This record gives sequence, C-alpha cells and structure tokens, in this order.
Amino acid sequence: MAEWDYEIFWKETLNLIRKEKEEQEFAMWFNLEYLRSAENEIVVAVPSSFYRDQVKQRYQNYIEDKVQSLTGKPLSVNFEVVPRNSVNEAPPAAAEKPGNGGSRPAAEKKPAHDQLNKDYTFEQYVIGDNNNFASNAAQAIARNPGSAYNPLLIYGGVGLGKTHLMQAIGNYVYDNSGSKVIYITAESFTSEFIQGLKEDKMAAFKKKYRYVDILLIDDIHFLENKWETQEELFHTFNALYDAKKQIVFTCDRPVSELKKISDRLRSRFERGLNVDLQPPNYETRCAILKKKVEEKHITIPDEVIDLVGKNVSSNIRDLEAALIKLIAYTELIGTPITLKIAQDQLRDVFASPKQTNMSIETIQRVVADYFSLSYNDLKGKKRTQNIVFPRQLAMYIAREITEYSTTELGQSFGGRDHTTVMHSCQKIEERIRSDPTMDSTIQNLTRLIKEYSAKS
Ligand code: ADP
Ligand code: MG
Repeated sequence: MAEWDYEIFWKETLNLIRKEKEEQEFAMWFNLEYLRSAENEIVVAVPSSFYRDQVKQRYQNYIEDKVQSLTGKPLSVNFEVVPRNSVNEAPPAAAEKPGNGGSRPAAEKKPAHDQLNKDYTFEQYVIGDNNNFASNAAQAIARNPGSAYNPLLIYGGVGLGKTHLMQAIGNYVYDNSGSKVIYITAESFTSEFIQGLKEDKMAAFKKKYRYVDILLIDDIHFLENKWETQEELFHTFNALYDAKKQIVFTCDRPVSELKKISDRLRSRFERGLNVDLQPPNYETRCAILKKKVEEKHITIPDEVIDLVGKNVSSNIRDLEAALIKLIAYTELIGTPITLKIAQDQLRDVFASPKQTNMSIETIQRVVADYFSLSYNDLKGKKRTQNIVFPRQLAMYIAREITEYSTTELGQSFGGRDHTTVMHSCQKIEERIRSDPTMDSTIQNLTRLIKEYSAKS
C-alpha cells in the first residue's frame, strides 16, 4: 500500500470512531494526527507523553481493531509525542527516530520488576488520617519482611489505595534487597491454579509460590466460593509462614464479612495484622492532588485543586480521574487550566447522577444478598434478629443515599409506618457509635449498592 493510502485509511478510521463515541470523548481523546506509516504500522501524533499513555491504555486495542476492520489486515498504531503547536510543521522525516541500535543509559540499573507498577512507592503515597496506621505498618514490613507482622492484610473500599500500598512494600523490598517478590491478584492466582491443574503443572505452580520471600496477593475477596483455590492458598500460606516469609493480602472488606471462605483460611487472614484504609478527608485529598500534579510536571492553580478536593470525595481513583480529565483537556486546547475551565469540564463529574435514581429495591436486594437473606424476608414481617438488623441497616442506608421520605421508605419496606423507619435509623446510629466495624460495613454496602445500580 502506498503511503497516502494509509493516510486515507487513518481519516476513515477516525470517522468510524467519531460515530461510535460521545462527542466530548471523541474531541478529547481522538485528536490524533497522522504522521507517517510503514509496512505494518501507522504513527500518529499526540501532544504529550501523559496523553500518549492515557490513549494507549484506554484505546490502543480499540483503535487497532477499527483500523483492521477497514484495511482488512492487522496494523499496529503507535503514538509519537509532538507538542501541539508544531504538529503541522514537523516534516515526517525529522520525526523519524534512529533504529534500535540507539544509545542506552550509561548506568545499568536493576531491571524493573515486571509485576509491580514502579510509581506505586512510599514516596508517592500521601499519608493522612485515613491511612496513617496502614502505611506505618506497611513501611515497618517493608523494612523487616517476615518478622514484623505476618501476614499483613489491608482492607478498604475501591480506589482507596490498597494496591498502591501493597506494591509500595514490594517495590521497596525489590529495590533494596535481593529478595524474590511476587505480586499477583487473587483472580490471576485462581486462573493460574486452574491452568496448573488442567495441564498437570501443579509442581511448577507450587514451586513458584512456595519459594518466594514476599508474596503479595491483591483482592482476596475474589476467592469467595472458590474452594479449591482457597485450599491451595491455605497450603501456600502455611509453607511461607513456617519459613518466615512475608505475606500481604488486600481485601475490599473486613475479613469477618467475607462469605464462602473456609474457616481455616479466614483464620489465617486474620492471624497477623489487619489494617483498614478510609476515604481521605479534604486536606488529604488536596495533598494527594498536589502530589499527582507534581509527578506529572504540570502546574495547576491552588483554587482548582481546592475545587476538585472539595467536590470529589468518594475515593482517590475518582480524584485522579478528575485531574486527568482536566490535564487532557488543557493539553489539547493548549491553554493553562483555570478555575472556569475546571468548573465547566468537571460539571458532570461533580453532579454524580447515579445517586439520584437509586431505587429502594436495589438497596434491599444488595443488603439481603450481603446477609444471605431473601429479598422477601428483608421486606417482610419476620422479626428474628438475623433479619431485623439487616432490615434496619437497609432502611438507614436508603435514608442516607436516596431522597425518599420516611413515609415512602416505610411503604417500600412492607407497608411499615414512618416511625418504624426513624426508629431503625436511630438503632443503627447507636450501633455506629458502639461498634467500630459498623462504619466500614456501611461503606462497603453503599459501594456495592452503587456498583449494582450503575450496572442495572
Ligand atoms: P485500590 O486498590 O484500593 O482500589 P489503588 O491502590 O488502585 O486503590 O489506588 C487508586 C489510585 O489512587 C492509584 O492511582 C493510586 O496511586 C492513588 N492513590 C491511592 N492512595 C493514594 C495516596 N495515599 N497517595 C497518593 N496516591 C494514592
Ligand atoms: Mg486494587
């Protein structure tokens, strides 16, 4: 194919994508100008390395699929950073890089650990009231693996920094010693285990996981109901524990609230130290935003940091997403971020429309499921303690996250009176004051409800 054919194909690809994407998304992420092509690749321009990483992560596969659907052959699409105001002037040849024989950095560094994100370090982890205890524990373990607390289990809702903290331990140990570190999600651990069984490679599997210095297993809630994998992990645990090797787990809720986990594995999870991560307060949110801005080598006015810090309180992932959206926007437009731009661009993010159309039924179903009750029992008349508490909790959460009145809520809970709803909310409030785990139970449930509601 001639060079100009590729250029035409690229234009067509963009047209195709434009039809599939929302206008704003397209404007933001598909401002990708054709630069040049070779036999099996098309190279397009992006305004910064930040933008390149984002596009690669979000869209590379999608874009390549689209190109293939037009050209009928697999082509890779690659992104080259060309600062925005010079795109049109850069002659293709000038943008060409020397081949692979180019220079290497002089000092040979230890190769990066291939399972760990190198940005997830203690240096990049902002400490606040919400994570103070957890991060101290993590640092103690990183300095003294296998002897401080074993295992360490970090729990908390989505986007609160569990993976980051866990990998910070891994990065620290990997960088400062010759120890063998393995990081794996519980999901991958499960599929590797199943694969091992099928292909008769259990010996290799066992060898891999029982001869490490530090084993990091992320998101163990995934193991609920996976009995064989639990059994295997139990033995892995014992082997490592007896050999004084460090084990770290993360979980999206307290271990006591995991269902369908064998008692003996649960007791292993609870054996060492269990620490929780809470959502950050306003000051910590601003500190995190400043840190992220610094890492990306950009400047953002304090009033914008303040705006985002005030309005995005759910978790740190959302906080970062808001920031990324702003940076992408201004890099494209080529102007600095102002308060006005931030307000306009983040209006949707702040509005968080999901919450308003939350149905009471969704709340009831999720809560019932969480406590292994039937939906009808939760709404019904039975007054046994194992039902009364979840029912009160469901009423409390419904009162917190919906706009329904107590009368309407009473109606939806089997035609009860509004005073019953008020009484239930009081009961839960009392319990929050007396039982330190109630807060995280409520947070977990609220998150599950929102996830469920977003899907349905
Ligand atoms: P989780 O595993 O709990 O869902 P992650 O560890 O993936 O959350 O964190 C989500 C994002 O927020 C990551 O990009 C992470 O770097 C960032 N993050 C979380 N906590 C902090 C913190 N205390 N300081 C800086 N960044 C943080
Ligand atoms: Mg995680």
